[in-house]
Amino acid sequence: MYPYRSSLDRLKKEIRDVPDFPKPGVLFKDITPILVDAQLFRLAVTVFVERYQRKTIDKIAAIDARGFVFAGAVAHVLGVGLILIRKKGKLPYKTISVDYDLEYGHNTLEMHVDSVKKDEKVIIIDDVLATGGTAGAAANLVEKAGGKVVELAFLLELTFLNGRERLGDRPIYAAIEYP
Ligand code: AMP
Repeated sequence: MYPYRSSLDRLKKEIRDVPDFPKPGVLFKDITPILVDAQLFRLAVTVFVERYQRKTIDKIAAIDARGFVFAGAVAHVLGVGLILIRKKGKLPYKTISVDYDLEYGHNTLEMHVDSVKKDEKVIIIDDVLATGGTAGAAANLVEKAGGKVVELAFLLELTFLNGRERLGDRPIYAAIEYP
């Protein structure tokens, strides 16, 4: 079966730990070493492509900003449309939005009103599942527009943060788990 465990281990080894970024106490998982390596970037994209190429899906939704990188490539290979889910104020046209709570304060995600049509099947992609707040809001946004979230997909899941709990009973795929 593809992807082989050893491929995923290679990807995992290349994700760089950056302590205290963007603030003290956070161990940031930096995926850019994967992006700069042609083989590894292709491998990461292939992991998602292999998983979804035999599923009926209409669109890939990408979460701002590192999700864009993987989702764009996956949508291209699968031949489906790409939806951008962005932080408030970045999208130029009419938007729909969803608010969600952070540890301190709250945030808003937006999507263009015409990105998702009713009953379209959507895969949501981001690089890292951490607390799940962002991914949960992205899923709410797609559903608010009438779309169906087929699965939420991540390259890496920080399992100790229990992000899955904020995603309800929606299907979740994480290629790599940390620790
Ligand atoms: P979340 O806490 O799941 O809402 O994560 C918020 C966003 O920040 C997601 O798009 C993640 O990709 C990113 N993120 C959160 N924590 C980390 C981390 N420790 N390392 C890398 N990215 C992170």
